[in-house]
Amino acid sequence: MKIIVIGAGVVGVTSAWYLTRDGHEVTVLEAREGAGLETSFGNAGGVCPGFAGPWAAPGMPFKAAKWMFQPSAPLKVRPRVSMHQWRWLAQFVANCTPERFAANKARMQKVAHYSKACLVALRQETGIEYDHGEGGVLQVFQTPDELEGGKRSSAVLTELRIPHRILTAAEVLEVEPGLARSDVPLSGGLQLTTDETGDCHLFCKALARLATAEGAQFRYDTRVTGLRLAGEKITAVKVGPEEIEADAVVIATGPQIDLLKPLGLNVPVYPVKGYSLTAEITDETAAPRSSVMDEHSKVMITRLGTRLRAAGIAELAGFDDRMPAPVLDGLKARVAELFPGAADYEAAALWHGFRPMTPDGPSRVEKTRYGNLFLNLGHGSNGWTQACGTGQMMADLVADRPFDPAVR
Ligand SMILES: Cc1cc2nc3c(=O)[nH]c(=O)nc-3n(C[C@H](O)[C@H](O)[C@H](O)COP(=O)(O)OP(=O)(O)OC[C@H]3O[C@@H](n4cnc5c(N)ncnc54)[C@H](O)[C@@H]3O)c2cc1C
Repeated sequence: MKIIVIGAGVVGVTSAWYLTRDGHEVTVLEAREGAGLETSFGNAGGVCPGFAGPWAAPGMPFKAAKWMFQPSAPLKVRPRVSMHQWRWLAQFVANCTPERFAANKARMQKVAHYSKACLVALRQETGIEYDHGEGGVLQVFQTPDELEGGKRSSAVLTELRIPHRILTAAEVLEVEPGLARSDVPLSGGLQLTTDETGDCHLFCKALARLATAEGAQFRYDTRVTGLRLAGEKITAVKVGPEEIEADAVVIATGPQIDLLKPLGLNVPVYPVKGYSLTAEITDETAAPRSSVMDEHSKVMITRLGTRLRAAGIAELAGFDDRMPAPVLDGLKARVAELFPGAADYEAAALWHGFRPMTPDGPSRVEKTRYGNLFLNLGHGSNGWTQACGTGQMMADLVADRPFDPAVR
C-alpha cells in the first residue's frame, strides 16, 4: 500500500519504520526541516515504562487548584477562553476517580512495557545509536511524606511485577554519587532498575536514516494543509496546491491536531508545555550516572552521553511560545542545587515543547471512521517511552492484524 505518515516526531518515525518493514511504500511528510525537531527534540530522555501512568489521578484536581497560586508549582493551569481547554479539563477531572485511574494506568503500563521490549529488539536488530543508557531511573525524595508516597508506589509496582527497589538516603548516594555534593536533604529513593535513557532527537534522526535505507521517503519542510475526502475515504493529502495520493494516511502530528477538525474528528489532545535545558558535562564525578527524577520539583535530570538534560514543568496554556526567565532560572537553580558543578548551567541550551496529552492518559492508536485514516496521537508525557510499541501497533492496525498479546 502507498501510505503517507504526517509528522516525523518519534511517533511518526517509528510508525514509518514498522510500516516500511511490513512492505508498504511509505512517505513521511514533515513541516520542519528534519526529524524530531518539535516535542521529540528536548524531552527528558527517559524511557521509563515504570513511571507510565495518567496525570488524571485521585486528588489531582485539588493539587492543581492549589498549585495555581504557587509561582514555582510543577503544574500550572492558565485558564483560556477556549472550549477545547475547558472540555479537556472537564474530561481530565472525570478521569480522576480511583476506578478510571486504575484502568488508565493498567493500559498505559501495558503499552509502555511492550514498547520498551520493541525498542530493545530494534536496537539489537539494527545497532541504532542515540546516546542511550541502561542504568535505570532513580526517583529521589526530599521529605518523609515523599518517601511515604514512594513506598505506596512500590506496592503498586510490586503488584505489576516491575523490578524496583526502595533505597535509603545512603543507598541513593551509592547509586548516584554526584548527589553527595548537594546540600538538598534526602529522605530516600525508588529505583526503577530496568528503565532506560536516550536522546529522542538522535533516535529520530537515526531511525529516519534506517527507514530511508529500507525504502521510506522523508519529505521535510512540507506542511500538510488538508486531507482530500471522497465518500468515506481519504484519497490524498494537500500540501498547499499540491495533492499527494495515498491508500492510507497516518496522523502522527503530536500536539497539532488541526487537520482533524474539518473532518469532524474531535480528538482530545491538549498541548501541555514543558521546558528543558541541555549542558555539556564539565565534571564527570559530579554528574548523574543515569537519570534522576526529583520528586520535590518533578524535574528529571538525565545523562545523555557527554551531556546532562534536565526537563520538567507543565503549563496548560495553549501553544504559548514564550520562554519566561523566572521559569528557566528556577529550572537551572534546582538542577544546580542537586548536581552542583556538574555542568556550566549558564551556558545550557534552553528549550520548550508541548506534550500531546489526552485527558485520561492513554494514547490513541486507532482507525477512524474514515476506513483508511489512522491516528497515532496523544502520547503525552511518555511518548518517547511508548513510541516503538505504538509504531508497531500502527503497522498491525493498518495490516488488520491483532495487536501482540502483550498489549491486547
Ligand atoms: C519537557 C518534556 C519532557 C518529556 N520527557 C519525556 C521523557 O522523559 N520520556 C518520555 O517518554 N516522554 C517524554 N516527553 C514526552 C515526549 O517528548 C512526547 O510524548 C513525544 O515527543 C511526542 O512525539 P510525537 O511524535 O507524537 O510529537 P512531535 O515530536 O511533536 O512530532 C509531531 C511532528 O508532526 C509535525 N507536524 C505537525 N503538523 C504537521 C502538518 N500539518 N504537516 C506536517 N508535519 C506536521 C511536527 O512538525 C512534528 O515534527 C516529554 C515532553 C516534554 C515536553
